[in-house]
Amino acid sequence: MAQAKKHILPFFIPHLGCPQQCIFCDQHKIAGQAAPTAEAVWQAITALPNDQRQDYELAFYGGSFTALPVDRQVYYLEPVRRALAEGLLGGARVSTRPDCLDEATLARLRHFGVGTVELGVQSMEEAVLRQARRGHTAAQSVAAVRRLRQAGFAVGVQLMPGLPGETLASAWAGAQRILAEQPQLLRIYPTVVLQDTELGRIWQQGEYQPLSLEQAVQITLAIKLLAEERGVAVIRMGLQPSLELAAAVLAGPYHPAFGELVQGLYWRLRVLALLRELPAEVLTEAVDLLVGRRHFSAVVGQKRQNWPYYTEIAPRLRLRALPPERALSDGLLIVQAGGAERCQTEAEFRRDWRRLCGLPFIS
Ligand code: SF4
Repeated sequence: MAQAKKHILPFFIPHLGCPQQCIFCDQHKIAGQAAPTAEAVWQAITALPNDQRQDYELAFYGGSFTALPVDRQVYYLEPVRRALAEGLLGGARVSTRPDCLDEATLARLRHFGVGTVELGVQSMEEAVLRQARRGHTAAQSVAAVRRLRQAGFAVGVQLMPGLPGETLASAWAGAQRILAEQPQLLRIYPTVVLQDTELGRIWQQGEYQPLSLEQAVQITLAIKLLAEERGVAVIRMGLQPSLELAAAVLAGPYHPAFGELVQGLYWRLRVLALLRELPAEVLTEAVDLLVGRRHFSAVVGQKRQNWPYYTEIAPRLRLRALPPERALSDGLLIVQAGGAERCQTEAEFRRDWRRLCGLPFIS
């Protein structure tokens, strides 16, 4: 089975192969690039540093690769096959739709050395998929993951919480359903409204309310924790930021450091859960929060946004570095006040995260 490589050599083929236009999508704005030629692909491969070639995995993103005409797929895959045969590359992946993966296509991908297939699943609600004009069903997403796994491919899935008609509860239920199929990789892209898309038009007419940034961060964190519990690597949270993309966003939970916000919420929920374990009578005293120094900024949050949540419970909270003998356990949190102490390791939190997070959509 293909392993995730350390570095990706990405090529964007905006909308190539797409049989229809999903209402939220504008790959030209997301990627900001035109499709390459096969010659350009080959040149980029040969320009990789000689001593790191095996660390690179080439990827075709931004379109529906396996829905391209076969000769076009072969056009792009031929330099990949040659590079793999000559040891110039460590692997290859494509992204595509769940309904374009018949046996002949899988055989072709395997023949040319593709090891990983990323699927745009987006939602597991049929009504949501219809409204987004995805043109495939949730059952087809499940079938595609199963077929790819059986054929020995590594499978990535993409989810888009917040599409029209999706609730946080249904996005959570959908994530559980698709992660039960055991893909290896996951990308979480909360829906943002882009200019010149059908979703933009619907939003402008007041018929669509995107997730708030806080809601998007919450559902992303919940799906991330679930994925990691199941051994699925989360390789992206939020769209890759760029000036062009930022200028094209009309509404929705876009943030250039979205992943950091998710990480900040993770620590916020951990600290709040631990503070609540202290006896209520000591919370008005000086409370020390001890954490490894490298986690300070995540614990405090972007622009210190976590701090007011903590001081609402413990107004005299002080942040301290764990003493060296206790800092050996990475991710350890300790709170101390009035002679009381409570500790929480990362593993302890993750064992009971559904209850400790207290997120309203998790039943
Ligand atoms: S979301 Fe995927 S299938 Fe839909 S238009 Fe964009 S690239 Fe094509």
